[in-house]
Amino acid sequence: MKYIGAHVSAAGGVFNAPKNAYDIGATAFALFTKNQRRWEAKALDENTIVQFKAACTRYNFSAEQILPHDSYLINLGHPESEPLQKSRVAFIDEMQRCQQLGLTLLNFHPGSHLNKINEQDCLLRVAESINEALTQTRSVKAVIENTAGQGTNLGYRFEQLATIIEHIEDKQRVGICLDTCHTFVSGYDLRSKKSCDDTFKAFSDIVGFDYLSAMHINDSKVPFASRVDRHAPLGEGEIGWPCFQYIMQDPRFEQIPMVLETTNPDIWAEEIRQLKEWAK
Ligand SMILES: [Zn+2]
Ligand SMILES: [Zn+2]
Repeated sequence: MKYIGAHVSAAGGVFNAPKNAYDIGATAFALFTKNQRRWEAKALDENTIVQFKAACTRYNFSAEQILPHDSYLINLGHPESEPLQKSRVAFIDEMQRCQQLGLTLLNFHPGSHLNKINEQDCLLRVAESINEALTQTRSVKAVIENTAGQGTNLGYRFEQLATIIEHIEDKQRVGICLDTCHTFVSGYDLRSKKSCDDTFKAFSDIVGFDYLSAMHINDSKVPFASRVDRHAPLGEGEIGWPCFQYIMQDPRFEQIPMVLETTNPDIWAEEIRQLKEWAK
């Protein structure tokens, strides 16, 4: 079974997200459980939690179909101790919010070295941050997203993702979210069946499909290997439809949330309909 959806709005409360997803024909969704541009957030109250769980039941979403995304401010590989600590505290809070909501995945970008420490040290910091969060929570898997490699963001090479995983103590609770746009702009081609075969073989060899826990389905506004993060609607970017058809027809992408972060929410319903058609 393919779970297909989009990163929907949780405006007014997290309990609004399941209906927003249902309304566009989604069988998966992503959401922020707090304002993604702020450090602070009000704790989830019991009423919000109950309403969220009820909405998930009502609209038929189980935890494996839902992919919360953490705040953009968090840098788990921060080179300086104070901001690193702040990030770690905020990340644990994000994990706890997921746990309270009965969710089992948390998607995040690994971290940035800011040209102050080397790549390996940064990756080890990220792993240490994840280990700390895992010991302070239960049942939520840390799902590392591959990045576009923009600026000093790490996690754009499959080897970097593998290095982080290698240093995680509880490997049952770490996974990967592959973003098709990020994969492509970081230098893994997806424009033909052959290039998809090669790219996903590289992922399989270096990281392993056992770790694949989610997908972000995005086309790219910018050219191949440009290391710039600009999403485009499916088929309107540099990747093109064949890649998305390939993924929908490949059994390695079953039972995980696959969510659009494409730039025109008005056509999400249509994009989802097309993806579902291929997944049949
Ligand atoms: Zn993404
Ligand atoms: Zn992106």
